[in-house]
Amino acid sequence: MAERVPFVAGNWKMNFGPAMASQFALALRPQLEALTSRVEIALCPPFISIPAVGQALDGSSIRVGAQDAYYEDSGAFTGEVAAAQLAGLCDYVIIGHSERRQYFGETDVEVFLKAKAVLAHGLRAIVCVGERLPERDAGRTAAVIRGQLWSGLGGLEVSEFERVVVAYEPVWAIGTGRAATPEQAQEVAGLVREELQRMFGPVSRKTRIQYGGSVNQANCATFFRLPDIDGALVGGASLKEQEFVVIVQSCAQVAAGV
Ligand code: PEP
Repeated sequence: MAERVPFVAGNWKMNFGPAMASQFALALRPQLEALTSRVEIALCPPFISIPAVGQALDGSSIRVGAQDAYYEDSGAFTGEVAAAQLAGLCDYVIIGHSERRQYFGETDVEVFLKAKAVLAHGLRAIVCVGERLPERDAGRTAAVIRGQLWSGLGGLEVSEFERVVVAYEPVWAIGTGRAATPEQAQEVAGLVREELQRMFGPVSRKTRIQYGGSVNQANCATFFRLPDIDGALVGGASLKEQEFVVIVQSCAQVAAGV
């Protein structure tokens, strides 16, 4: 854990237009800024609010992230936003979130193309993997996660992979209030790290693996203490100012060995 700076990202999903997003980021800024020496922090608003949040956080160490990006640089792709267009506006891009896979039919091939484009434009990628409940119940969790890792990341160069964060998000835990147990989270995060080691070698020791799925102020520390978990991707709880601050504080305390 010592060789990895933990990373907490708030996925605001389809919430907060520019004015609200700016107000929220300004309220969080002084509370989070002091924690950035121990924890990397990113706020991920909807596309339309990225410039406003970028402005609210200008000059701070808090990062801005997008929730998706398209892999073509420009052209007739109505409604899409290119990784190329996000360069300079944000630092991170979430790729392959289960809501994109589930509701918008995003495939592992697209996850790869998007990750490649994001990295090619100098951004960092948070690549999400996770099994659905029937897959877990059928004992297929390890196979599903390995498959998502190989098809989503297997074609990257090591130099590109160095800018990837992996978020383990069991689909059945997202937005359900039913988080994974620490044992389940560690088992899969350990498997992710082992597989990344096979794919990319020793550099994978430095890869941050976040846990995501109903993280809240009450359960977050149990995840932050796990050997292969280096922070969290937080959805619902990242929309509540005090709760998100407590989650990041908790991560900072665990990193400090408190
Ligand atoms: C997410 O959107 O990535 C997520 C983990 O959501 P929640 O924390 O609400 O489960």
